[in-house]
Amino acid sequence: MSTDSWEAVLQRLDDAATLSGVDPEIHRMLRFPRRLLEVSIPVRMDDGHVEVFTGWRVHHNTVRGPAKGGIRFHPEVDASEVSALAASMTLKTAVAGLPFGGGKGGVRCDPTTMSDGELERLTRRYTWEISPLLGPDIDVPAPDVNTDERVMAWLMDTLSMIRGHDLPGSVTGKPLAIGGSPGHAGATAVGVMVCARAAFDQLDMTMAGSRAVIQGFGKVGGPLAFLLTSAGMRVVAVADAGGAVHNPGGLDPSALSDHVVKTGSVVGFEGGDAITESDMWSLDSELAVPAALAGAIDKRVAEHLGAKVLAEAANGPTTTDADPILDERGIVVIPDILANAGGVTASYFEWAQGRQGFAWDEDTVAVRLRASMDSAFANVWAKADALGVSLRRAAFALAVERVADAIEARGLFP
Ligand code: NAD
Repeated sequence: MSTDSWEAVLQRLDDAATLSGVDPEIHRMLRFPRRLLEVSIPVRMDDGHVEVFTGWRVHHNTVRGPAKGGIRFHPEVDASEVSALAASMTLKTAVAGLPFGGGKGGVRCDPTTMSDGELERLTRRYTWEISPLLGPDIDVPAPDVNTDERVMAWLMDTLSMIRGHDLPGSVTGKPLAIGGSPGHAGATAVGVMVCARAAFDQLDMTMAGSRAVIQGFGKVGGPLAFLLTSAGMRVVAVADAGGAVHNPGGLDPSALSDHVVKTGSVVGFEGGDAITESDMWSLDSELAVPAALAGAIDKRVAEHLGAKVLAEAANGPTTTDADPILDERGIVVIPDILANAGGVTASYFEWAQGRQGFAWDEDTVAVRLRASMDSAFANVWAKADALGVSLRRAAFALAVERVADAIEARGLFP
């Protein structure tokens, strides 16, 4: 899966380079990560034995600013996957107009089988091993799959201890108590919502009364179900790792959320009927949101997807062979590097607050987040119009152009 994800990034990068006509030498530079550090992480486990984990931190490109990107803990993560995700971050920060480059980190482990103590020791040793690459002006990690604000707090504390002074600007997605930002938690869902609304406006569709299906009811899918319902949409089906539920009249997000808190899954929710995930994608709807896994929208799903608009909340949810099918079927795809950029935008705000030593209030964060996402969407829409291509191809082309402009302006060292 992971080698494929690197190949998929290269394929889209190559297309974007051709489309935007950037200098072939700059294109060639972007086909390689700038640096990739692989580390071994020995950890004393609770039963007394030492386990050795493998971890990575990758900087794909840092020409527009410090590397920015999450750290994931997952049993299947590897160097190619981390590199692909780092390259996507280069493009995402460029599309979102943020002064960052692209980075990503990962540790191959199964956090679901580890105690809090083991996770803390793993995080601290991993941080120490990758510390030469970290710092507010160098590389600013954030939470990703299976990492959270607690992990970010351990990371920031470890780096601060190594350097001998507090470094609040060295990570984002921190707890509020140590310089986290209000509005960070729901920012990705807000960004997806801003993009979906803007797409509906452009397509002369109204949200009120329209139907949505969502895959994933976690940190992104959960809040998004609330936002869509508040906008008058009916969330007619939701899937998670356990299964899916369907209610043509609309699922009640609050009751569903209570059910998930109690049982751990949407399965068995009384306010809807069971449906297979495959049937869920086929339901007639105005909006479909993959907010779970990479590769969820493959060729087969693309052929029978019942939605008019697909908003990619997840990273890499659509396979490259599904792209042309969606295009041919006239389904408007809001690509991940645009649709889920609300999270990294809020991270930028958190980093900026850390650098300023001045906390913004929640309203300021919310207003700036909406304005930033609105402008990113408008720029990509205009680019797609000008080039006569899909939003994905336009977003990639715009991103590559911005990175190429920065490379040209700085020149090649030495
Ligand atoms: P999460 O772990 O909080 O939630 C994931 C959800 O996906 C859960 O409901 C889980 O049950 C479901 N899921 C897992 N496997 C599934 C399967 N096989 N079929 C159906 N559902 C399945 O994760 P999250 O933070 O909500 O992230 C979701 C996606 O959004 C990921 O691709 C992530 O990379 C991307 N993303 C998240 C953020 C963020 O701010 N959290 C930002 C940018 C992108």
